[in-house]
Parts: sequence; structure tokens; C-alpha cells
Amino acid sequence: MTTSSKVLIVGSGPAGLTAAVYTARAQLEPIIIEGEPSSTSDQPGGQLMLTTEVENFPGFPDGIMGPELMIQMRAQAARFGADLRTEKVSRVDLSSRPFRAWVGDPEAAEPTYSAEALIIATGARALMLGVPGEDRLLGHGLSTCATCDGFFFREQRVVVVGGGDTAVEEAIFLTRFAASVTIIHRRDSLRASKIMQERAVENEKISFKWNTQVTEVIGGSKVEQLALIDTVTGETSTMDAEGVFVAIGHRPATDLFAGQLNLDENGYLAVHDGSRTTVDGVFACGDVQDHVYRQAITAAGSGCMAAIDAERWLEAQGL
Ligand code: NDP
Repeated sequence: MTTSSKVLIVGSGPAGLTAAVYTARAQLEPIIIEGEPSSTSDQPGGQLMLTTEVENFPGFPDGIMGPELMIQMRAQAARFGADLRTEKVSRVDLSSRPFRAWVGDPEAAEPTYSAEALIIATGARALMLGVPGEDRLLGHGLSTCATCDGFFFREQRVVVVGGGDTAVEEAIFLTRFAASVTIIHRRDSLRASKIMQERAVENEKISFKWNTQVTEVIGGSKVEQLALIDTVTGETSTMDAEGVFVAIGHRPATDLFAGQLNLDENGYLAVHDGSRTTVDGVFACGDVQDHVYRQAITAAGSGCMAAIDAERWLEAQGL
């Protein structure tokens, strides 16, 4: 049995849930496929489920825990009648309208859902090192976002892992707070653009550890040390640090849409005129279409934009 709706939203981070609040209040009776619990960001609630305190979301002067913020957003969407489903989309077909989406067997003859408009809010995932201690200490001294968490590391020793523009940008930002910032890179030269490299080299708070990989993040309830290996000599060592920022890239969750929607030059969903994708009636919001800002508040804002765009588009179609 296929369930039909005017609007289907895929993803339940700040973007998807804000789109849900707006479309539900517009009486569009949206269905939201919120994902399934897992250890990565493609779980219900998205990346904020993996953070601890959020101090920069307006409206919470004392801060709020990331998971609590998502529980509140979800409750707000449900209050207006959004139909939230804890399941995962396995396939979509955007070649004709209504659009079709499958949950479970992607080869099933009947799709699970059909919808006139689709809002994609599948988010992105920070790439992780995959070393012992990393998962356990995420949110406890280990972070993937300096803008979000730099403030917590005033006068402390922090490390940034990576050699691209993100790593260098995060390192420079962190010098506002930290006593020292060490960039640990697996090779002996940065991938980051020349100008960013120059800024980092000129910054006296920043030092570099070249040809080095982190092999373990060590600590009890918080990050205390890193275990390192020299990629050239094989020599091992440890380094004391209170903070670690993993900045080795992000991966937007676009696999479902491969070959159906255009991507931008960074591999994120390409949008134009607000939240419109390259298929009429399909809208995108949040980190799946944003490699620049990556904030909960900008994701929420773009979720609002996608909801309004979808609502107006449906109206114009007479649907
Ligand atoms: P990049 O893919 O450019 O860089 C990732 C870095 O992480 C590389 O130095 C890579 O090493 C390293 N790395 C990857 N995997 C591992 C691993 N398992 N262990 C250790 N190190 C690892 O990602 P960014 O997020 O930095 O940038 C993405 C895009 O966004 C780029 O095009 C960038 O230019 C752009 N950007 C632009 C900014 C700006 O203009 N202000 C700011 C931020 C990003 P290696 O070099 O050896 O491959």
C-alpha cells in the first residue's frame, strides 16, 4: 500500500523539522521520514544528537543540550500534526510526479510513499578518523565544529586534525580562545589554499606537527591526550591536549539522489532561487546543500525557506 501526501520530508535535523513545523502549520499534512537510530548523523535529529551543549541557538540564553533541542523541535512539529516516521528511505524516483519513495526493499514494485512535493533535508556527516576513543569523547573535548565549540576551550591546548581549508580555518578561529593550537597533518604540506596557509603560518599561536596521524584519543570523562604516529619513521608518541577538532572533511548525504539531482562543485545538492533543486517540485535545505555555514540556525532557516517554497509551488500547481 502506497501512502500519498502533498509533502514528503526526508531528514529530521533542524532543517527537516523546521520544514515540518512550517508545512504542518500550513495544513499540508507533511510526512517526515526521520531516519533510524544509528551512531552517525543519519539518525533522527541529525548531527545535534552527537553534540553536548549548544550555546549559539537563539532563544536559549543558558544554552541547551543538542539532543534536548532536537527533542523540542520534534515535539513542536508533532504538535501541529506532522506525521513523523522512524524509518529510512532506501530509494527515490524523481523522474515523474508524484515523486515516489521506498522504505525497506528498494526493488519492491509498490513505493512506500508518493508525494507531490519533496523536501530533502538529509544533512551531512563530518568525516571521522575512526580511531579508539573518538566516538566516546565526541562532545567531551572532541568536536567537529570550531564555530560551535571553540568557546569552550578558553586558554586550553587544542589540536586540529587535517590539512585542508577547513582545518586551517578552524585553527585560525580557535586562536581567539585557545592558549595554543597545533595542526596535525598526515603529510608534510597542507592542502589548504595558499592564503590560508600563510595566515596560519604567521599566527604565533599555531604550530604544526607534520607527517603525523592520530592513533587514539585518550581520556577518562574528557580528552586528555592523543596517541600519535609519525607516518615517515613509524615512531609513536603522546601529546597532551584538552581539545581535539577533527577537520578532515564532510560528506553530504546525497547517495539517494545520485543521477537524479545535480550536485554543486563540492558534491552538495545544487539549489537555485531559494531551495529549488534541478527537479521542479523537489526542494533541499540544511547541510545537504550547504558546505559553507553548517550551523543549526542556518539549517533551520533554510528549512523554513524550503517549506515556504514548497507551499507556494504547490499553490501554483493548483495542488
Ligand atoms: P579537504 O578534503 O579539502 O581536506 C581534508 C584534509 O583532511 C586533507 O588535508 C586530508 O589529508 C585530511 N584527511 C582526510 N582524511 C584523513 C584521515 N583519515 N586522517 C588524517 N587526515 C585526513 O576538506 P575540507 O573540509 O578542508 O574542505 C572541503 C572543501 O571546502 C574544499 O574544496 C575547501 O577548499 C573548501 N573550503 C573552503 C573554505 C574557504 O574558502 N574559506 C573553508 C573551508 C573549506 P590529505 O591532504 O593528505 O589528503
